Order: sequence, then structure tokens, then C-alpha cells
Amino acid sequence: MIRTKAYAAQNANSPLAPFEIGRRDPGPEDVQIRILYCGVCHSDLHAARSEWQGTLYPCVPGHEIVGRVVAIGGKVSRFKVGELAGVGCMVDSCGHCASCREGEEQYCENGFTGTYNGPVFGGENTYGGYSETIVVKESFVCHVRHDEQALAGVAPLLCAGITTWSPLRHWQAGPGKRVGIVGLGGLGHMGVKLAHALGAHVTLFTTSPAKTADGERLGADEVCVSTDQDQMARQANRYDLILNTVAAPHDLNGLLNLLKRDGTMTLVGAPPAPHPSPGVFNLIFKRRRLAGSLIGGIRETQEMLDFCAERGIVSDIELIPIDYIDRAYDRMAKSDVRYRFVIDMASLR
Ligand SMILES: [Zn+2]
Ligand SMILES: [Zn+2]
Repeated sequence: MIRTKAYAAQNANSPLAPFEIGRRDPGPEDVQIRILYCGVCHSDLHAARSEWQGTLYPCVPGHEIVGRVVAIGGKVSRFKVGELAGVGCMVDSCGHCASCREGEEQYCENGFTGTYNGPVFGGENTYGGYSETIVVKESFVCHVRHDEQALAGVAPLLCAGITTWSPLRHWQAGPGKRVGIVGLGGLGHMGVKLAHALGAHVTLFTTSPAKTADGERLGADEVCVSTDQDQMARQANRYDLILNTVAAPHDLNGLLNLLKRDGTMTLVGAPPAPHPSPGVFNLIFKRRRLAGSLIGGIRETQEMLDFCAERGIVSDIELIPIDYIDRAYDRMAKSDVRYRFVIDMASLR
């Protein structure tokens, strides 16, 4: 076992605090990574504070991990000691179901293993990236090819980046397509950057007029204040794809109305309670689709990381020491971050 410093929640109400965990010694197919940076995802807060069902304590969150390979198993062929590596939301899956065989491990029919709080079928709890080091099966580790000085901003690509990239690719965002991004938070700001980089015409839909300048700076061609009825009316029936990143229950009708015939709105935010069901006529009169999408597969994550490395795309972040994490959660809950907190893991050592 590798004794590893970490930060853990011991129950839903106590702040995160230093805690020692044991990592397995690397097996033949494992890569051991010394963690340099870990992004702070909304899911971390939900898990640490048990706002969703089923948190197992102690809980060490963190699934936006960038680090350096420090040891490899005998059968590892794709990584060398000293290389940069990234780990996202998954560390394992069954490997043999239809989804796994097609490289869509996030839809594993037997349940993928989450990077934290992710035991399946009674296995041991998994501990995430708020820690010194992690040991992960090679097939769930990605290469990071960004410049070294960009690494902190790379961490959020492993969840926020892939969560927006996968639906943009699946619904073929690109030149000639109009894409709407709803909400400008951790996910939304990556959605704007990536849709723009893919060549789509991008409109940011936000309830906050104050975010107009940021939306344009990040790559939006247009910014529409979604609480303004006149602005929304002008955008009706124009969009091929709407990527809805909002994680609070809200009325979907006004947004579905933005879609062209055969357009798709895909939900990627995870609200604590369902959205009210939208009106049926909004869908059937234009054959519109309401869809969902969950992170992305490992192959697709690598594709996204390479695309971003080539173009110098990273997340806009605020770098924090680990002992700031509970303040960061409180601020994140109020959307008071532009646009992702990232923990400098040197602060743990
Ligand atoms: Zn996440
Ligand atoms: Zn599977």
C-alpha cells in the first residue's frame, strides 16, 4: 500500500480535512500519478455534502486530475515515468458490454467505477484527486500534451471539458451549425470555448446581462439574455443544437423554442430535482429532440485533450490551496467563480 495524504469529508456536515488513505501498489497494468492539480467540480460538493444519494464516507472528492507519472506496471505500454497524465471521472468499467466495446465506457451497462465514491458491486470505495497520488489502470489514463505552464487550466478539461465536448461532437457542432450554450459556469464556459473552436456559430444564453462581455471574450458570437422576452423571441427556431448546462430545475419550453425543426437540446447539468416536463407541442410540431449526455468515453477524452493542446485551450480558473476547499464550495454554490476552482496540490505536501 502507498500511504497517501488526502483531504476528506468524514460526514455530510463536517468540513473537509486532512486524512491519510492507502493506494494500491501499481499492478502490471497500472499507472501511478503524482497529482499536480485537481479541478473542483460541482459533483464534488454534492458528494462531500451528500446532496445526492449514496455518499460513502470518508469521501475524497476530485475527478479533474492532472499529474506526472511516477511509476508504471510491467505491462504498461502507453506511458513512461515522467510523462504528464490526466484522469477524469472514471477509473474502470466492465470492459465487455456493448458500450465499453464501443469506447463509450461512461454508459457501461454494468456501471463504470467512479474516480471517487465509485465502488461497484460491493468493491472498496474509490478516492479521488484531492490527494498526493493516485493509481489507475492504464486504459483509463489520458496523455496531456499541453505546455507545462498551462497545466492547472487543463485539469477541468477532464470533466467540464469532456462533458461539453462529447455532445458537441455527437451532434456535430461545426461550421454552418448554430449552437446555443445555456448557462455560463464551469461547464458553460467550456461549451462556449469548444463550440467556437469547432467552428460553430455560438450564442450564449444567460440570465445575467453582466456576463455578456465574458461570453464574447470566451468565443460567443452572440449573447442573449434569456429572461428578456424580446431577445428570446428573436432567437426562436434558429438553433441546430442547444447545450443546456444549467444544474437547477427550470422551465425548458422557452429553450426548446429556440430549436429549428429537427434540432436537439441536450441536458448536461445535473439538477438535484427534475426539470418540470416541457410542453409536448413544442416538441412534436418541429420534431425537436430533448436529449441528455454524460461526460465522454476515454478515447473521446483523449481526442478533446489533444484538440485543446493543439489550440492552447484551457479552462479559466482560480487556483487555490487545498485548505481553501470549503470556502471554494460555498462560493461555487453561489456561482462565485470564473469559472473553475483548481487545487494546487503542492499545498497538500
Ligand atoms: Zn465533474
Ligand atoms: Zn461495460
